Amino acid sequence: MALVNILHMTTGHEDSSYAKNSLLQETVIQKAIPCLNHTIKGIASRDIFLDGCFKIADLGCGSSRNTLLVASNIIDIVIEVCKENNHKPPQFQVCLNDLFGNDFNNLFKLLPEFYAKLKREKGENVGPCIVSAVPGSFYGRLFPDKSLHLVHSSFSVHWLSQVPEGIENNTLNIYPAKTSPPNVFQAYAKQFRIDFTNFLKLRSKEIVRGGCMILTFLGRSIADPTCDDNCSLWEQLAQSLQDMVKEGLVRESNLNSFNLPLYCPCVDEVRDAIKNEGSFSLDNLTVFQVNWDPQDTDYTNTNDSIDLGQKHGRNTAKHIRAVTEPLLTSHFGNSINVVALFKKFEKHLAEHLANKKTRYFNILISLTKSE
Ligand code: SAH
Repeated sequence: MALVNILHMTTGHEDSSYAKNSLLQETVIQKAIPCLNHTIKGIASRDIFLDGCFKIADLGCGSSRNTLLVASNIIDIVIEVCKENNHKPPQFQVCLNDLFGNDFNNLFKLLPEFYAKLKREKGENVGPCIVSAVPGSFYGRLFPDKSLHLVHSSFSVHWLSQVPEGIENNTLNIYPAKTSPPNVFQAYAKQFRIDFTNFLKLRSKEIVRGGCMILTFLGRSIADPTCDDNCSLWEQLAQSLQDMVKEGLVRESNLNSFNLPLYCPCVDEVRDAIKNEGSFSLDNLTVFQVNWDPQDTDYTNTNDSIDLGQKHGRNTAKHIRAVTEPLLTSHFGNSINVVALFKKFEKHLAEHLANKKTRYFNILISLTKSE
């Protein structure tokens, strides 16, 4: 089945749902606020939306409270900028995009509270603000020509449009790992180049001249794709699946044919793709790290104690489960013992963290449509 019909975060409100496990992504969203501020000021200074309706799209919006947090952050900044410029705030159109299986219903149920808060905090002078859902892949057209002022996307663009082709020899791994053959790294890099270029091309048609894009996504700290912040996390999950194979709980051929449609580019790959595609100028590129366990606030130590490693391993496994469970069950079948798999993952993560504290490396870019 095509990836667009499979990929989504775990739906509903159970303990394992994305709605209950999106603190990591919230942390990433908060880190982007200064950049959002700066970018919106830039759009306003070009008088692009001030007298009409500010049209925003959040691509890969997910299904948790994070989504409306993004919308609130943007609206707050726009209102602030208007105040500074003695302008009446514009109307707002907020388009929430994600793949077809996304739990949009969860977002819709949060809307009455969102609208009421907006009214309470901003008064009658602001609005209307109209939120809508636009299901579909951001690797296809989503909006009419020149219809958006700001595109935002957090923690989504690292998802590829498909698993790269020609990587059947990535056996026992599920992502480029230190033990993967060279063609696997090349195939992933190529797929990212194709997808990211396509993403930029599509958005360049949909964004008005002078409009902007703010994207935050996973990356890696150095060009060498075997670096820890690229490979380690998924090596631990692959190890856990190998344990399942050894115990007869997963078929080896099934593991051999499973690979994640995900890529963590280095900064140069991102810069090159933007330059070669040519529709956007890169205004800002920032990188930052976030601990695997979003509740872990220790950014000084290089390893965890055994006890802390266990706690951080548990929390990390929980949020990775909310992100990968639908992909795993789609490939391995509903009968895969997800609880057992993530218990093993927890254990491997704890051992890894006690030995070496590895973090997510994030790339935040702000782009202006230049042509
Ligand atoms: N931005 C949200 C969700 C991040 S999780 C937050 O910060 O909480 C990544 C999201 O990207 C998932 O909901 C996933 O379904 C979505 N996604 C991945 N590939 C996509 C694509 N091609 N088109 C649209 N959404 C996609």
